[in-house]
Amino acid sequence: MKKQFIVIGLGRFGSSLVHTLVQNGHEVLAVDKNEQLVQDISGVATHAVQADCTDEGVLKELGARNFTHAIVAIGDDLQASILATLLLKELHIPKITAKAKNEMHGQVLIKIGADHIVYPERDMAARLGNQLSSDNLIDYIELSPDHNLVELKAPPAMNGKSLQQLNIRAKYGCTIMAIKKGIHINISPKAEDEINTGDILVIIGSNTDIRDLEEDYE
Ligand code: ADP
Repeated sequence: MKKQFIVIGLGRFGSSLVHTLVQNGHEVLAVDKNEQLVQDISGVATHAVQADCTDEGVLKELGARNFTHAIVAIGDDLQASILATLLLKELHIPKITAKAKNEMHGQVLIKIGADHIVYPERDMAARLGNQLSSDNLIDYIELSPDHNLVELKAPPAMNGKSLQQLNIRAKYGCTIMAIKKGIHINISPKAEDEINTGDILVIIGSNTDIRDLEEDYE
């Protein structure tokens, strides 16, 4: 479904976000006080406006209240990030996501009403750290602090074995939800389905269970 986003701050994070939202078919109003950054994104965003979002009147003029989701992508200027978030909250925007530089910044943003905080550098570093620590981990989604959905390259020791033979759920407590074989994805794997080298396994489970499985098949 098409959604309407307002993205405030078009630095590296904000501008990348605008690209992705537009690619996904959404309407995006991109705003920055820097004229050049606004020009750079004008061919991509649905609308691009140069404005200072710490000014309540400006936000009203932009029609900010009509958006269902606002993203405050200002990181370095704490005062601007906090004030813009506060003003958006006062306009009763249903969902506000804000980028924070550090934990303290994030806590302040939550206190004043941001619904969701992202810490791009911290989160990206954690993701990269996890990927680099494992030979087989391709990607993961953190479902909770203790549970992940991971994509793993099928370890060579699984080659030619069926799910029944591997018995992953009983042995490790995690579940192989899907098996990718090139462009084909089997989303309801059966006991007799076989795993081969080159397959990618989509596994859901607790962090410790997934780690045990990875270590056993290293
Ligand atoms: P990144 O690390 O993603 O590059 P920055 O914090 O460096 O993020 O970039 C934030 C952007 O937010 C900058 O382009 C800056 O011009 C913009 N910005 C800062 N204050 C305001 C404001 N009051 N109104 C609109 N845009 C702002």
